[in-house]
Formats: sequence, structure tokens, C-alpha cells
Amino acid sequence: MAEVLVYVDHVDGAVRKPTLELLTLARRIGEPVAVHLGANADAAAKVLGEHGAVKVLAADAPEFTEYLVAPKVDALQAAYDAVSPAAVLLPSSAEGKEIAARLAVRIGSGIITDAVDLEAGDEGPVATQSVFAASFTTKSRITKGTPVITVKPNSAAPEDAPAAGTVEQLAVTVADSSKGTKIVSRTPRESTGRPELTEAAIVVSGGRGVNGAENFPVIEALADSLGAAVGASRAAVDAGWYPHTNQVGQTGKSVSPQLYIAAGISGAIQHRAGMQTSKTIVAINKDAEAPIFDLVDYGVVGDLFDVVPALTEEVKSR
Ligand code: FAD
Repeated sequence: MAEVLVYVDHVDGAVRKPTLELLTLARRIGEPVAVHLGANADAAAKVLGEHGAVKVLAADAPEFTEYLVAPKVDALQAAYDAVSPAAVLLPSSAEGKEIAARLAVRIGSGIITDAVDLEAGDEGPVATQSVFAASFTTKSRITKGTPVITVKPNSAAPEDAPAAGTVEQLAVTVADSSKGTKIVSRTPRESTGRPELTEAAIVVSGGRGVNGAENFPVIEALADSLGAAVGASRAAVDAGWYPHTNQVGQTGKSVSPQLYIAAGISGAIQHRAGMQTSKTIVAINKDAEAPIFDLVDYGVVGDLFDVVPALTEEVKSR
């Protein structure tokens, strides 16, 4: 069976969920071979093996943390040369997309970004994308070279699929030309204890209807009762009520959770662009004519300051 390279997104060997989702999708088109760059490959290999990785190609070098993505592209290219895979899959994070684009250029391949599904096809993997603010769903396949595909988080459920997960060292030479941009400092964001917005299974977002930073705790309380991340519309962010890092939409983050709850958000096309592929969408809005109701699975016409706390209490009581 053809091998499929899966780029591992991890924090010090703790594998992030989107990588496990990629392994599920990779198994549809071949045998997953994970590429782990950085420390603690053995710890990562255990989890990767449990989710279907037959092999883990591991490399650790200071350049992976000292520089921006180029050294990682060198490493992924080394893995590509070693394996000659049927496809290369990466998470649709900012880093994943940049590595994918650079790799595709180097190996002369076509690239598909932000896929939301992947299936085997007679002439290679077929990727589903949601385009034009999710007005259309397209299916496409790469016609030139080895497919390089980035997949949005939450596009597949991680499946248990025990496999060997054997660690093999990958020989990587980081080119001098890859050391063009050195990281001079890192400032970790203060942890909120909530899941990362783009990876969360549930997102609760607030918009202009929240009417002030002082009211966002209403949204946060519902999010916390559900173990969800908090999002915000641009109107709420521009007003300074919530950080830009939490903005959902065309000029913010793109999310695709199992459940998206929009409170006090009208549903402008630029907001929809960032959340319309969510599996189940719920809106709470006091205007029955708000455009968000055109795309919801469940809608509540009402004041969010009545509905959201009642929902929070209901969730907490279960
Ligand atoms: P509004 O459109 O003002 O809607 C507020 C809603 O809250 C209304 O429907 C109202 O009925 C409801 N409401 C008010 N009070 C209550 C209450 N008490 N209870 C219940 N409901 C209530 N927007 C984004 O979100 N993300 C983006 O990334 C983004 N990028 C953009 C890029 C460009 C180039 C442009 C031009 C715009 C972009 N926008 C983006 C802005 C977008 O066009 C909208 O202006 C924005 O999404 C509106 O935010 P909102 O829904 O919170 O506010």
C-alpha cells in the first residue's frame, strides 16, 4: 500500500488533535507515515501509533525551534525523498500551510489548502473544500506531482487504529538558505484554560449584540460549561470587547467545530466565511430576520442575556 506522509503538529511531543484527524484521513488513501520534528518523538510515537501511523520519521535539531519554518521544510523534503509518498498531509494552521506551500514548490507539485474532507480516487486523493464563504463545495484532485494537502481541524474524528508506530531517525541537513529568519523572542499567550479556537470541538461566539466587554463573561460562562473555545465577530473585536486572536471570519480565524453557537451575531458573509463549515450551528438573536438564521441548524429568537445564561444553567445541571 502506498505511504502517506503526515506532518506532526505537536507541543514538546504532545501531539495535537488535528494530527490525529490527519491520520484518520491518511488511512483512507494509504499507510500513514508520521514526520515528527523536534523533541520527545518517542512519546509522540506512542499516540501516533495508536492512531494508525505505521512509522514515525523523527528528526531533532535546534534549527527547528530557532528559525521560522524553512528548516522544517528541509526535513519534510528529506522525508519525502526517503519515502516517495502517495500524498503529503499537513494541518491547515498558519505554519502547516506555509510548510505545505514551500514543499509543493520544491517538489514541483500541486497543492490544495483548507480541505474539509479527503477520499481515495482512481487517479489520486480527492479533496473537498468549502469555497466563496462556503457558498460552494468543490471536489478537486492534484494533477501534477505528489499531492500536498492541508486539512482544516475538525474535518474528521480521530480514530483508534493500532499500528506499529516504529520510530526511525530521519537524516536532515538544514540548508544555510533556510536560516534566513531567526526567532529572537517568544512570548507565550496567557492561558485561558480553554481549548484553542481553531481546534475546539465547540465554539461559542459573541458579536455586537453582547454590547460591551463587560458582558463577554456571559459568553465565556456558556463556553466553560461546554468546554468550548470563545470566538467573537469583528464588530466585537473592533470595538475592543474581545481580543483579535479570537475573531472568527474572513479576516480572523477559520473554525469548523462540531458545534458553533453564535450569540448576538447577524451572520455577515465575512463572518460566515470563518464558521460555515461547522457541523451544527446554533444562533441566538433577538431579530428573527437576522441572516444568520438562514444557515443555522437551530435558532433561538430572543435576547441573549436571557437565553445564554439559561442555557448555561441547563448545561451545568446535567
Ligand atoms: P451586527 O451585524 O451589528 O449584528 C449584531 C446582531 O446582534 C444583530 O443581528 C442583532 O439583532 C443582534 N443583537 C443585538 N442585541 C442582541 C441581544 N441582546 N440578544 C440577541 N441578539 C442581539 N466580520 C467578522 O465577524 N469576521 C471577519 O473576519 C470579518 N472580516 C471582514 C472583512 C472585510 C473586508 C469586511 C468589509 C468586513 C469584515 N467583517 C468581518 C465585518 C462584517 O461585515 C460584519 O460587520 C460583522 O461580522 C458584524 O458583526 P456582528 O454580527 O457582531 O454585528
